[in-house]
Amino acid sequence: MKRFRELLKKSDNYIAGIPAAPGLVIGHAHLFTKEILSVTDAAADDVEAAVVSFHEAVAKAKKELNKILNYAKAKMGEERSEIFSAQLMILDDEILLGNIEQHIVQEKKQPEFIVHREMNVFLDMMRHSSDTYFRERANDIEDIKNRIIRNLQKKRLQSQVTPGVIIVSESLTPADTLLLSKWDIKGYVTDRGGLTSHAAILARSLDIPAVVGTHNCTHRINQDDLLIIDGFHGYVFVNPTEPQLAFFNEKIEKMREINQELKELKDKPSQTTDGHEIDIFANVDVTGEIDLVIANNAKGIGLFRTEQIIEEFGELPDEELQKQIYYNLSTRVYPRSVTIRAFDIGGDKVKIIDYPEANPFLGSRGIRFLLDNPLIFKTQIRALLRANIHNNIHFMIPMVSTVDEVKKTKQLIKECIHELQEKNQEYKKLTKLGIMIEVPSAAVMARQFAREVDFFSIGTNDLIQYIMAVDRGNDAVSGLYQEFNPAVLNTLKHIINAANEAGIQISMCGEMAADNQALPILIGLGLKSISASPSAIHSLKRTIRAVPYEKAVELAQKALELSSQEEVQHLLLQFFEEHNIPRTRTILKFI
Ligand code: PEP
Ligand code: MG
Repeated sequence: MKRFRELLKKSDNYIAGIPAAPGLVIGHAHLFTKEILSVTDAAADDVEAAVVSFHEAVAKAKKELNKILNYAKAKMGEERSEIFSAQLMILDDEILLGNIEQHIVQEKKQPEFIVHREMNVFLDMMRHSSDTYFRERANDIEDIKNRIIRNLQKKRLQSQVTPGVIIVSESLTPADTLLLSKWDIKGYVTDRGGLTSHAAILARSLDIPAVVGTHNCTHRINQDDLLIIDGFHGYVFVNPTEPQLAFFNEKIEKMREINQELKELKDKPSQTTDGHEIDIFANVDVTGEIDLVIANNAKGIGLFRTEQIIEEFGELPDEELQKQIYYNLSTRVYPRSVTIRAFDIGGDKVKIIDYPEANPFLGSRGIRFLLDNPLIFKTQIRALLRANIHNNIHFMIPMVSTVDEVKKTKQLIKECIHELQEKNQEYKKLTKLGIMIEVPSAAVMARQFAREVDFFSIGTNDLIQYIMAVDRGNDAVSGLYQEFNPAVLNTLKHIINAANEAGIQISMCGEMAADNQALPILIGLGLKSISASPSAIHSLKRTIRAVPYEKAVELAQKALELSSQEEVQHLLLQFFEEHNIPRTRTILKFI
């Protein structure tokens, strides 16, 4: 760390941001912008030829998108590639295409002008929607519009990215992050975004280093600049000097050695130095990661975010399709278990009904939305009941704030079972029912909730934002997003105690569980299970294996009495040094 600080002191060519996904990479910058193509309302001399050119441009756009679709299928599987199929469907929309053709003929104007104007009508509507989901879909429509115009102007496809570059962008949606990864992207740097935005979570899942919330990277970095991304500390070095390159190349080499060593931990037990077992599960966001769950020997899947299915399909999948997705998932991990979370619709995530809300994070989100829309909720529950052939599906409810919400969910599950029986359809009861603890009221009432469910999973991403009253995606207040704030730690203690006293399972699936620094305190607080990105599993296990349980309990007790995050971090540093705990991954922050 000292060497790193000295290096920083001597440098003026770096940009600081939020370390969103760990890792070190060196590569060339690709400025990712949505290209603005200029069009004029010049007359079309030959209207027939203009109509033919328009259809040729649409056909070429389809060909391009088909290629992307095939690539996506190869990388993520059939189901998750549906987002591109949805884009292709727009290019088959006879009403849209017919309308554009009609205007070209009637107005005798260049087709690119008409395409631009007509598609902008939709785009404006979507961009001004209060719904994040629709705003993000606007980018997809704009991509289609630009493809057609570019092809009409016979320009080269600009949206292609040279493999192996580092993407520099004002912001990235989760879809951008996923789509760009197909070009073997080395890293992401953005002006905006926070640590737990879904684009950042996805970057971690894909194991691609990312620094977000830099404010001005798109102004300070030029196309093809050589960059070093330090996803551990949140720095980007622009056109590095020789000493900087030497420093980071040495670190990259060291990291390779550490990773090799970590892989050797695969078959070793996940227990403290004095034999306390801590189960490690995996959070799964993209289908491809399931192989990693198995390869890394995780206990199972601790969190499967089903709202991502809606995001990727572009619509709500029907009962049959959902059943197939959940069944495939549970089959692939069997005999391990999979905790499937009910749709967490709303907040900063996907929405399927466009309702304006002044405060979406405090609005109709998760279980609140589902109970207000029982048809959607029951479709998902029936799909899960029918998919649970291996008896390894655990069902989890997000954003729970009252016990009544759990009781109502149980009632709906009963009704779904009854409906399936009436139809003589095969099903198995959901193996376990649990809740996410991510709202302060649920934390406070943990004892009462423990009587109702089989397990708790602590969602620190939201819990911290609600305890600290700080928007998890807003980098302007990210300094207050403090996982080590004693207010957070005391809340965790209360939840963990309630679960342990009631004898129900307790886990954590928020990003705090993936932070090696947090592990000794979490273990000391009595947490017995964690769920994190599959790529973090080995390093978490390595830390667990170095922690003395009794000392961790003492550490946690001390931390609970402190009054600031800084004091807790200081205590932790001492703990790591005193017990010689290796500092890997997130702990590399300290090196
Ligand atoms: C959380 O809030 O910690 C969590 C795991 O849920 P999500 O990040 O999907 O809101
Ligand atoms: Mg959450």
